[in-house]
Amino acid sequence: MICNVLEYLESAKEKFSEKDAFADVSKKVSYKQTEETAKRIGSGLLNKKIKQGTVVVLADRDVESLMTFFGIAYAGSIYVPVDKKLPEKRIESILQVTKTEYMIVKRNDYEQAKRLKFQGEILVMEELMESPLEIEKLENVRQKHIDTNPLYIIFTSGSTGVPKGVTISHRSVIDLVEQFTNTFGFQEEEVFANQAPFDFDVSVKDIYLTLKNKATMYIVPKKMFVMPRQLMEYLEKKKITTIIWAASALGVVCAFKGLKKIKPSALKRVMFSGEVLPVKVLNYWKENMPDTTFINLYGPTEITCNCTYYMVNREFETEDILPVGKPFPNTKILLLGEDNKEVSVGEIGEICVAGSSLALGYYNNEEATKKAFCQNPLHNLYADRIYKTGDLGYYNERKELVFSSRKDHQIKHMGHRIELAEIEINVNSIDFIRKCCCIYDKAQEKIVLFYESAEEKDVQLIKLLREKLPKYMCPNKMCWMEEMPMNSHEKIDRVMLKELLVEG
Ligand code: AMP
Repeated sequence: MICNVLEYLESAKEKFSEKDAFADVSKKVSYKQTEETAKRIGSGLLNKKIKQGTVVVLADRDVESLMTFFGIAYAGSIYVPVDKKLPEKRIESILQVTKTEYMIVKRNDYEQAKRLKFQGEILVMEELMESPLEIEKLENVRQKHIDTNPLYIIFTSGSTGVPKGVTISHRSVIDLVEQFTNTFGFQEEEVFANQAPFDFDVSVKDIYLTLKNKATMYIVPKKMFVMPRQLMEYLEKKKITTIIWAASALGVVCAFKGLKKIKPSALKRVMFSGEVLPVKVLNYWKENMPDTTFINLYGPTEITCNCTYYMVNREFETEDILPVGKPFPNTKILLLGEDNKEVSVGEIGEICVAGSSLALGYYNNEEATKKAFCQNPLHNLYADRIYKTGDLGYYNERKELVFSSRKDHQIKHMGHRIELAEIEINVNSIDFIRKCCCIYDKAQEKIVLFYESAEEKDVQLIKLLREKLPKYMCPNKMCWMEEMPMNSHEKIDRVMLKELLVEG
């Protein structure tokens, strides 16, 4: 039985030592190089007497960052990929939540990292990669390993104003790649084109499906996603067989008619997730790529990427909603009503998930963990943990699961998962703000911030927010109000604000 994701890497290296494992715009590494470098990084960390804890990596989308993740796993620790372009305050809040003692950065980022409020030690990636191998120490770590040990933490927006660290075990990732491989029939010839940054869990599928299948993964340069024709040229040139992308990335290709000239000839599977893919976009891809299989993947980070899938097997009209399908093997879906009982076919309920794919919770955040991960309310006979997604869905007449909406104020904006409450808490912490409320204008794809203060201060406000929040979370439109409308419960009247939006 596989207990550690590194066994995939080692088995690939055994069989295909010289095969390209990962490649970015300037470098490619074989399985042999990947394993050796990761072991050196692991050895370097073990020489620091690292305890089983978190190691933050200020990551780029490149092969060095990937090898660093594996190196941290070799040291028996938990890697935390963090985008180095995030505002300093946000990186600091992640460092605080993870109680990190070590942060790994590229030599070029050392000065930036030194400016952060951080008590621990900053290690240079390039130096760690040169560490002497400590075979005995690495073996020692492996002997003590159990598959429920955490492998990584991915941070996601938190409604209390602080990002939440979703903690995922080796077991969950193993379950994910085994189920994906069995369900979709991946093989050793597979070539993946990675689109998602490493601090997004969409990338976890690319990375570990590559290792499991002894395949090759290309890290597609970000700039190509605004140049769809070049992007298709790239897929053609690299003979990409599978893409597992955010639905928004497929949308861009459709909007710019990216498949007009080149239709990537080796592309067998197009898999997408993150939000509802408009049928218009699906049909554009299908018309251009009639022999390709299209698969809608659904699920939140907390259940290790995806819990259901729908392999497109019929025609859809533009106004139809694409189902999210059925659960992967070894995954259970419950649709629970307000009374915590299962709803009947056609009725809407909250999508709840059980199985080995469930996260270990939110790191260092018992309260949020207890709220979302709880005992299956259908019985109390033995421990049966479920994750309440906050997503609402129903079964259609074909018994396929369909996503309908959210229970709360979590949104997807430009492919990013955002709790509007997190923006509001950050706005409210600014001294001149009296009240505020964020509304998402889905039609215009804009986050609109209504705020009440003595006078209009749009410019100062956005400047202050940029220091705290990632760019994608900063409001796209500001509406100053002398007085915020309140409802009969003395709460901000969201309904009225939404109406104001519609009226323009
Ligand atoms: P994330 O944790 O960033 O992957 O976001 C998870 C959330 O994205 C889910 O809880 C859903 O609200 C939404 N989502 C993910 N996949 C899909 C899909 N295929 N269709 C509709 N919504 C989706």
